[in-house]
Amino acid sequence: MIINYPEVAVKELIDEVLDSYILKNPSTCRCERCRNDIMALALNNLPVKYVVTDHGRIYTKAVYDQIGGKAQVIAALTSAIQIVQKNPRH
Ligand SMILES: [Zn+2]
Repeated sequence: MIINYPEVAVKELIDEVLDSYILKNPSTCRCERCRNDIMALALNNLPVKYVVTDHGRIYTKAVYDQIGGKAQVIAALTSAIQIVQKNPRH
């Protein structure tokens, strides 16, 4: 199976980043459409890193090591949230 590491990281972190963003911006929408737009936008701003895995289980720590840490994923998600909230497509 082929996976893209940043995609794993984005799916892992979306709720955490949205939760902390909403604390400061309570009007933020987190409907399915907005969540998907945020993830797509964040992924377009992250470098792709495809790997092949023989087993279904992916270790999150290994993912972050491979892509240079969590911080850039959180930054990409945060700026994607800001963009989507300005122009929601739901
Ligand atoms: Zn929405």
